Amino acid sequence: MEQEQTMTEISNFPTANLASWEWQYQGACRQAEATLFFHPDGERGPSRRKRDAAAKAVCAQCPVIEICRKQALAMREPYGVWGGLTEDERMQILSSQSRNRNRFAAS
Ligand code: SF4
Repeated sequence: MEQEQTMTEISNFPTANLASWEWQYQGACRQAEATLFFHPDGERGPSRRKRDAAAKAVCAQCPVIEICRKQALAMREPYGVWGGLTEDERMQILSSQSRNRNRFAAS
């Protein structure tokens, strides 16, 4: 009987793809709880602001914050704190960039 493959076979990934994510090994969040960076279902108000602030404090000390932020915006990461930005902050930046592109295209 053939054994079912249960894990992603990362050796099949293109090399360039792996290299573009290597910066994550230097992320300060590797020493933190992942739950700090991703809100649980239904989290709102002060609890959410407090957790986001704590995650952003970790990001502020991170040596790869710039590339992390760039990648999160480019990939349109839908959830979590990445590069010191919450998902709402990233959405605002992306919306603003889109409005600016449309403005230039119309002129
Ligand atoms: S900037 Fe924040 S989310 Fe990105 S790698 Fe660093 S600590 Fe992790």
